[in-house]
Amino acid sequence: MDFSLKGLSTSPKDREDSSEEAVKVLILGSGPAGLSAALYAARAELEPVVLTGMALGGQVALTHAVENYPGFPDGIGGMEMVELFQKQAERFGARLEFDTAIEVDLSERPFVVGTQNGVRYLADTLIITTGASARSLNVPGESELTGRGVSYCGTCDGWFFKDKDVVVVGGGDSALEEGVFLTRFASSVTIVHRRDELRAGAILENRARSNPKVNFIWNTVVEEINGNGAVESVKLRNVETGDESLHPIDGVFIFIGHTPNTKLFKGQLEMDERGYIVIDDYMQTSVPGVYAAGEVADSHFRQVITSAGMGAAAAIQAGHFLDEQDIVE
Ligand code: NAP
Repeated sequence: MDFSLKGLSTSPKDREDSSEEAVKVLILGSGPAGLSAALYAARAELEPVVLTGMALGGQVALTHAVENYPGFPDGIGGMEMVELFQKQAERFGARLEFDTAIEVDLSERPFVVGTQNGVRYLADTLIITTGASARSLNVPGESELTGRGVSYCGTCDGWFFKDKDVVVVGGGDSALEEGVFLTRFASSVTIVHRRDELRAGAILENRARSNPKVNFIWNTVVEEINGNGAVESVKLRNVETGDESLHPIDGVFIFIGHTPNTKLFKGQLEMDERGYIVIDDYMQTSVPGVYAAGEVADSHFRQVITSAGMGAAAAIQAGHFLDEQDIVE
């Protein structure tokens, strides 16, 4: 994708090509952080516009059940939660646009954001909640067989593995939670982890260890994914002994962490060495008036509740910023 700023020039020709809209608060992303920011900004009568991005609701929308968000003692489906967040934000006047930012210019205010649908937003404040995307293993066969047995989402693809044998790669909460979920469909779930100790929390570890369909292969990495049109096997290597083996399998689910979606802002906002946007305690980025919340700026907590809290905080600060600039009538 071309992230150059050429489409953001203010020439009359460009204005003819795209519609232009001035907004007080523009929110990029529609996960828990974005929709919480939208709720708070809407309740402050800042008429926020949310560009949802390609995936409404972000990662939580793909989660089978959220059990650690207060207020839902029996848990709630990820997509159902997103719908409730959206409904609540819209009730107070937030507007969701099913559109994606493809270019930004943060060099002066109003900030300019160009979208896939050809709209040019002039935003007094910007709240970035573009989240993070699943990381890939980068092994031979992985990209060719994605969607043909290789998956990054148990909730989305689990059903296709009814009575099949699958491998789950990773040792964190996602790997275990999704691994246990996959036992609803698969005959066996083999969790392949590169160490002999899990990163996941105790509850998920106990749940996985006590599930008769789940087994573990420790100190092992996937070196290759093989198959002709569909996954047939994985080549495994024990990192301690160096032993290699071929493991026949029908599916490979990869849960090895995430990369923040910050490409669009490179060179314009301060980021850490892994590409997460650097913010202060008030969600403020290196550019005054630009805030970031949720996983795009948080590599540590990465929970629905912490992302939602960050989104709310960002919207409150955006309101203060507008007050200070005398932008709010
Ligand atoms: P994570 O905690 O970063 O775990 C990633 C796992 O993948 C680690 O076990 C890591 O191994 C392994 N890994 C990383 N790169 C690898 C590679 N190239 N090859 C093989 N293995 C690799 O990521 P996550 O599980 O997606 O969780 C992200 C955050 O969301 C965490 O804060 C987690 O607590 C949270 N979360 C919570 C819940 C819940 O509470 N129900 C559910 C899902 C996620 P090492 O352990 O050796 O580093």
